[in-house]
Amino acid sequence: MSERIERDFFQRDPEEQKAFLEQTWCDSCMEVNLGMEEPAEYELKNTVFIEGKCKRCGAVVLTEITEDDF
Ligand SMILES: [Zn+2]
Repeated sequence: MSERIERDFFQRDPEEQKAFLEQTWCDSCMEVNLGMEEPAEYELKNTVFIEGKCKRCGAVVLTEITEDDF
């Protein structure tokens, strides 16, 4: 079992936060950059994820961050 490690999204640079909140992909709307709200950041299996809710439909949107972007 992998452990989910909570990280603090709000420790990120404000510009970076803004970019992550705007640059999204919603599986439900099938559209990019609808934006997300209530972001939560965590690490799982050496990958960082930012999870939030789609601003349009409220579905969970997940952004995966590759190691280069840490
Ligand atoms: Zn959506």
